[in-house]
Amino acid sequence: MAYTYDDQNIFAKILRGEIPNNTVLETEHALAFRDINPQAPTHVLVIPKGPYVCFDHFAQEASDAEIVDYIRAVGEVCKAEGVEADGFRLIANAGKNGVQEVPHLHVHILAGRNLGRMLAPAN
Ligand code: 5GP
Repeated sequence: MAYTYDDQNIFAKILRGEIPNNTVLETEHALAFRDINPQAPTHVLVIPKGPYVCFDHFAQEASDAEIVDYIRAVGEVCKAEGVEADGFRLIANAGKNGVQEVPHLHVHILAGRNLGRMLAPAN
């Protein structure tokens, strides 16, 4: 499907510097910052700087350079946050059924406690 990017979403505003964020890492094509409402002791969001709605949009339309930089940024944050030893979870929600709140691709990096089973019942 063709995605339409809404440049008024909250992460677009963060990228433009219109609202503050707690930055963990910045690269040429990616920004990582702490989630404002953390669900675990470590909860970092990693976003591409380009206008991509969700993971499949990014995978289909981003350049190789953007994709490499973004995936490496996720790895760098995992290393910097020291999550490898005890484990962690990556989540990339997409669309209505994925219950994505912010329509700019973000991977959640969650760690620091046992995160339980992968899915909770829908409510
Ligand atoms: P989603 O449900 O779209 O996968 O996740 C959106 C995430 O963005 C949520 O975990 C929410 O707490 C986080 N979030 C929403 N607004 C802000 C904000 O202004 N700053 C930061 N750092 N995180 C935000």
